[in-house]
Amino acid sequence: MKIRKGDKVKVLAGKERGREGTVTRVLPGENRLIIERVNVAKKHLKPNNKVTQGGIIDKDMPISASNVQIICSADGPTRVGYKFNSDGVKVRVCKKCGGEL
Ligand SMILES: [Zn+2]
Repeated sequence: MKIRKGDKVKVLAGKERGREGTVTRVLPGENRLIIERVNVAKKHLKPNNKVTQGGIIDKDMPISASNVQIICSADGPTRVGYKFNSDGVKVRVCKKCGGEL
């Protein structure tokens, strides 16, 4: 998975296409991720032992990682490449401008 928690991403396909947000959670096993305020579902809760107050809450639902691209601060949504920096550490780079992500 090339995208990590905290990345700014743009949704390029699916019903949330065009939305941008910050990744709040990555689910590598499912190749899905959760983006803040994107793909929000209304959940209807009934009061029970855990939830004392019923009602409707907004819940961010995971979307497929293949539908999103990371946003490069220089040139927008981009594909991710890898390189080794001067310290020999593998870093992610923007495939458009070559800058580190
Ligand atoms: Zn770039």
